[in-house]
Amino acid sequence: MKPIQVTRSSMPDLEEYIDEIKELWETHWLTNMGKKHKELEGLLLKYFETPNITLFTNGHLALECIIASLKLEGEVITTPFTFASTTHAIVRNGLNPVFCDINPIDYTIDVDLIESLITEKTTAILPVHVYGNICNVEKINHLAEKYKLKVIYDAAHAFGVSFNDVNIANFGDASMFSFHATKVFNTIEGGAVTYKDQSLSKILYDIKNFGITGQESVEYIGGNAKMNEFQAAMGICNLRHIERELDKRRIVFEKYEKRLTNINGIKLCRSQLGVKRNYAYFPVVFEGFKKSRDDVFEYLKNENIIARKYFYPLTNSYDCYKGRFKTEDTPVANYIANNVLTLPLYADLSLEEVDRVCDIILEV
Ligand SMILES: *Cc1c(COP(=O)(O)O)cnc(C)c1O
Repeated sequence: MKPIQVTRSSMPDLEEYIDEIKELWETHWLTNMGKKHKELEGLLLKYFETPNITLFTNGHLALECIIASLKLEGEVITTPFTFASTTHAIVRNGLNPVFCDINPIDYTIDVDLIESLITEKTTAILPVHVYGNICNVEKINHLAEKYKLKVIYDAAHAFGVSFNDVNIANFGDASMFSFHATKVFNTIEGGAVTYKDQSLSKILYDIKNFGITGQESVEYIGGNAKMNEFQAAMGICNLRHIERELDKRRIVFEKYEKRLTNINGIKLCRSQLGVKRNYAYFPVVFEGFKKSRDDVFEYLKNENIIARKYFYPLTNSYDCYKGRFKTEDTPVANYIANNVLTLPLYADLSLEEVDRVCDIILEV
């Protein structure tokens, strides 16, 4: 049987991409905010219906740079049920992550616990829109105003999601998107920050370019996080087909839902009120199922089907943070991390393949 990977990158036709990059052989302008970069920026501003955007070479550096640009200090409230990037971005900026638990419904930050974690050192909240499920943006906004905190969303999973017809890029002070090859929309590697305060635009630009502010001045300890022209060209192509890709994902997603809803011991995410989804992932939590998550993972692997323990382990249990945090402080996150599996999902996954995956799970 043909192997089934957990994900597969969306790509335009080769001719379309070649057509897009042809110009680069004329201009020899390959990076440093060239024409393709500018064009993609404009297209994404329109897509996100947002006032400001800055592009980056990947989502992680986008997150590091927006944290640096906001000049935060002290503690940042976040969750451990996320990709390594979220926590590392906080720590690499010299800040202390304070871990809040997640809620057991949509696996985003438990907004009822945030207030108890706020101290005089807290300067920001960094929640994650997990699997494209959105955080309780209204409650978070309320808390941020009450305690004068910045809010940066890790929206790496949330491209194409909107809430009450407002694109998810427009909540909090800023949102980071990842355009990594495995994400709903990709620029091979890539990322962006969308933000409210237009004055951040200059510092974000400078920080992603070594902190250079003029021919003879360097004002920030920046890095190199620029998106190059080949990445931008890929983005321009992929964005043309995004609606079709999302639609194909929806069909796969709904097929999974149909097969796995109301199965004893299998818990799925429900759709959220007012949210237009992007069908980025299909997480399944095994709760009183006949086999454990790890068993199901192995059964699938033996059939050449790769599911993913995502997110496992929790970031607050990483070796590199040994002794600093306790997973017992985030019991719900710990429980979900130990029991969740995300199933293969991408636009070109066939419905027969979905059936194969589901048959194996149901027959273990
Ligand atoms: C993918 C991802 C990132 C990092 O994005 P890259 O573009 O891979 O650097 C950060 N946070 C989450 C939740 C992600 O899934």
